[in-house]
Amino acid sequence: MIYLDNNATTRPDFAVMIEASNETYESFGNPSSWHEPGYDAKDLLETARCSVAQSLNAKPSEIIFTSGGTEANNLALSYNKKYVGFAGSEIEHSSVDKILTKKFKVLPEGFVDLVEVEDFVKKHKNPRSLVISVMLANNETGVVLDPDGALAHWKDKYGFVLHIDAVQGLGKFKIDVGNLNVDLLTVSAHKVYGPKGVGALYIRKESGNKPNPIFAGGAHEWGFRPGTENIFGIVAFGKVCDKYCDELLTDSTVRDYFESELVDIARVNGSEQHRVYNTSNLFFPAIKDLDAFLERLSMNGVAASGKSACSSGMPAPSRVITKMYNKERAEASVRFSFAHNSTKEEAAKAVVIIKEIMNEVENG
Ligand code: PLP
Repeated sequence: MIYLDNNATTRPDFAVMIEASNETYESFGNPSSWHEPGYDAKDLLETARCSVAQSLNAKPSEIIFTSGGTEANNLALSYNKKYVGFAGSEIEHSSVDKILTKKFKVLPEGFVDLVEVEDFVKKHKNPRSLVISVMLANNETGVVLDPDGALAHWKDKYGFVLHIDAVQGLGKFKIDVGNLNVDLLTVSAHKVYGPKGVGALYIRKESGNKPNPIFAGGAHEWGFRPGTENIFGIVAFGKVCDKYCDELLTDSTVRDYFESELVDIARVNGSEQHRVYNTSNLFFPAIKDLDAFLERLSMNGVAASGKSACSSGMPAPSRVITKMYNKERAEASVRFSFAHNSTKEEAAKAVVIIKEIMNEVENG
């Protein structure tokens, strides 16, 4: 199988999984226990916290481990709704989208409409009661929503709380919570060659306005996330951060080659310039039945997707492409997302298969 669906999830790094498994088998204690096995597990936990913090240029005490990006997003937006408004782009991940009370338009390039954002914030009677949540890079197009960092600047000017869902940015950009000027930032391990079911929320230490815990329970993770920690997942998360976030492998040669070979039959959705290195969301005007096309791709050994994994299974076409363009374009668009080690040979094979299927489609 030529796996080109790495924005849905990546294949976990084998060596990391083995190392994390061995270490957490040896140090099996509960990190909250006051004895040797507990201290050993606590050491593993804190080492991983340092690694995740380092990959974000944050302090270890600002990292809260969660069960993934979805939970981290929910935690970030867990302020009391009576006092706080939640605003974000109309193409946020569903774990943010469902909480938003105000959605900003996106432009066909995939950028959030910054004119609308500033207008809304300026006119708001109390911008300090707003949480603005805009993702770093979109999961379907890979486009960076605010490439010039306007939100980082406006946060100081207007005083809102800023949350960034950086799940699709980790391992693809050097993430620096200082430069982004965020109060809150979400990451997830399985998008960067780690296991599923583990993520983290960065919570700025000096920020006076902190979210509320979602769960009731003990004092784990400074009370923000009660429950015995998923030590295996967390240790593996720390290791993939060390391996993939310090020296980034972000060469777009394979993706660019893939697109150049399809230029006669497909057009890129969104900005080509301000994209993560691995994502190619393509509009194929000849596609009449997207599900049938994806099924044929899969039967011929290419895994790609028509929309994000969390919304597949629903009959509607991609919400993201629909918002950026229209429903017709969404019904003929496919996301291909490469891994750091995807090869040109794989891309070339995928191109041949795509062209064969297209010929069959065109010839009825
Ligand atoms: N945010 C974005 C942008 C994502 O792409 C995803 C995963 O698809 C999530 C959040 C949710 O992360 P998780 O799968 O770890 O819950």
